Amino acid sequence: MHIIQKIGLGLFVLALAIFTLSLGLEKYELSPTSLSASKTYQKQEILEVAKKSGLMNKRYDSNFSFIADTKKVLKEAQKSLDAKAKNGIPEGVSEWDYRIGDGDVKSILLNTTKASSVGPIAQNPWRFWLLTIGLGIFGGLLYILPKFVPLAGIKNNHIYHSSMTRGLTVNIRSVALGLTITGILLYGVFYMKNNIFWPVVTLVLIGLITWLVLYFEKQKLNNPARSASPEITGWLGIITGIYLIGFYVLLYWNPAYITPWILIADPISKAISGNPASQWFLYGMLYTIVMLVMGIRMISKYRHNKYQITRTISVIFFQSTFAFLIPEIMVKLNQPYYDFKNIWPLNYTFFFDWNLNNLMNSGGIGIFMLVWGIALALIGVPVITYFFGKRWYCSWVCGCGGLAETLGDPYRQLSDKSTRAWKFERWIIHSVLAFAVVMTLMVLYTYFTGNYQILFFNSDTVRTWYGFLIGAGFAGVIGTGFYPLMGNRTWCRFGCPLAAYLGLVQRFQSRFRITTNGSQCISCGNCSTYCEMGIDVRHYAQRGQDIVRSSCVGCGVCAAVCPRGVLRLENSSMDVHTRTDELRALHITDGGITLVQ
Ligand code: SF4
Ligand code: SF4
Repeated sequence: MHIIQKIGLGLFVLALAIFTLSLGLEKYELSPTSLSASKTYQKQEILEVAKKSGLMNKRYDSNFSFIADTKKVLKEAQKSLDAKAKNGIPEGVSEWDYRIGDGDVKSILLNTTKASSVGPIAQNPWRFWLLTIGLGIFGGLLYILPKFVPLAGIKNNHIYHSSMTRGLTVNIRSVALGLTITGILLYGVFYMKNNIFWPVVTLVLIGLITWLVLYFEKQKLNNPARSASPEITGWLGIITGIYLIGFYVLLYWNPAYITPWILIADPISKAISGNPASQWFLYGMLYTIVMLVMGIRMISKYRHNKYQITRTISVIFFQSTFAFLIPEIMVKLNQPYYDFKNIWPLNYTFFFDWNLNNLMNSGGIGIFMLVWGIALALIGVPVITYFFGKRWYCSWVCGCGGLAETLGDPYRQLSDKSTRAWKFERWIIHSVLAFAVVMTLMVLYTYFTGNYQILFFNSDTVRTWYGFLIGAGFAGVIGTGFYPLMGNRTWCRFGCPLAAYLGLVQRFQSRFRITTNGSQCISCGNCSTYCEMGIDVRHYAQRGQDIVRSSCVGCGVCAAVCPRGVLRLENSSMDVHTRTDELRALHITDGGITLVQ
C-alpha cells in the first residue's frame, strides 16, 4: 500500500473512532427551555412530573440514564393526561393537542435530549464536524487519490483476499441473516405494542417462501445450489456490517441515542434551511458525503469507461441536489419537503393522508408535486423504461442505487449467483411489490371514505407495519447493513418494490438488453463475478445469448470488466423475445464444430 494511502487510512480510522466515541461525550441537563414540547397542556404536565421526580436541572454524564429518566417522565405525563382526559378535555382544545400520543413521546424525547445537551459537542459542533466528518473525508480522499496513478483498467485487485471484501461462508451468512430477521421481528412485536399478529404473519410468509424455493429445488435434483461465498469469512467485513446495522437500528428506532451526531450536523443544517438538524438531515448529509467520496473512488477504478464515469457523476448529482439540497431549500421557502425523483412505491408515504393534505394545502407548487409524483409513477416509469430499461432510474438517478454503486462497490462480487438465490429474489421482491400496492390501496380507501377497517384489517396498522418492516427493517437495516455480508444491491435485488415494477416493464416491454458476442468470450467469469445483481452473465455470454433479465440494473460493470469486449448495453428494437432465444456461438462437440445461430 502506498504511504499516502496508509496515512489516509489511519486518519479515516481516527475520524471514525472519534465519531463513534462522541456518542458518549455529551452531558445533559433538563430545563424548562430545553423541554421540547410545543403544545401547552403537554408541556405543563411534563414539567410538573419532571419537577416531582427531581429531573429538572439535574446533570447527567450519560445519555443512557438521561434518556431512561426522561422517558419515564414522558410516560408518566402521558398516563396522567390520559386519566385527566377521561373527565373531559378543556373547551376549544383538540384531543391531539391535549393528550400525549406515542409519536409525541418519541419526538419530544429526541428533541429534548438534543436541546438538553450541554457538553463539548453542543458548545463546539464545528470543531467536532472537522474532527469527525471533515477528517474522515480528508483521510478517505488521501486513501483514494493514489488509485488514479496506475494505468486505468480493472486489475486483479484481490477482492477475495481482503478480509474487508471477502464476504462470508454460506453458513455464517445464513446465521447472520436469520438472527437479524429474528431480531427485527421480535422488536416488531414491541413496535406494534405487543400485537404479535403482523410479526407472525411475516414469519409465516418467510417460511412459506423458503419452503417453496427449497421444494421446487428438490424437484430439479440436477440443479444444486451454488454460491459465490468463500471458504473463509472476512472478519473486517463482519465488523463493518455490524457497525452499519447498529447505525440503522439507532437511526430508525432510537434516534435519541445519536443526538451527539445530530448536534454535529446542526451548523450545516442551519446554514442550508435555517432549522436545527434532525436525524434525517444527519442521514442525508452523511449519505451525500459518503456517495461523493466513494464516487471519486468509483471513478478512479472505472476511469477507462465513459459510461461508468458519467453515471457515477449522475447519481452523485441527483443525490446532492434532488435528494439533499432542494428539499431543504423548499423548507426554507416554506414549501413542502419533497424529493422530486423519489417515486412511488419506493416512496411509500406518497399517498399517506398527511402527505396528500400537506401537498394539497401548499398551493400551486404542492399541486404540481402531487401531479408530478402520480405522473412519474404511472406514466414516466413505463415510458422511460420502455426506451432505456430500468437503468435510467436504478443506475443513474436513484439514491439507494447510488449508495450501492459507490459505498457498496467494493462488495459487488458478494452477490449470490445461485439459481436458489434467483428464486428467492423473485418471490420476495414481487411479494414486497404486492404488499406495497395493497397497503397503498388501503390507505387511499381510508383517505376517501374515512373508514379504517377494511375486512379484518386496519389500514393504519398495515401502513405502520409496512413502514417498520420494509421501509426501515428491509431497506435500511438489511438493505445497507448487509453490504459487506451479502453484496451491495441486497435491497435493490430482493426488496425494492419500484425495482420490481421497473423490472416487469424491462422484462416484457423494453428495448433494453445486453447483447453478447459469444465467439469472443474466453469464459474468464469477470462479468459474473462483478454483477451486483447476481446474474450469471458468463452463462449467457458463452452461448452468445442476449441478456434480458428483470433484475439487471444496467450498471454496465459486466461490460466494463470484460477483457474481450463481449458485452454491450443497448436500447434497440423490440424483438427482445426472439433475440433472447437466439444463440450465436461456436459449439464444439465430438461430432465437429457447428455455428449455432
Ligand atoms: S448484468 Fe451487467 S449491467 Fe446488468 S446488473 Fe449485472 S453487471 Fe450490471
Ligand atoms: S463475457 Fe467477457 S468477462 Fe464474461 S466470461 Fe466472457 S470474456 Fe469473461
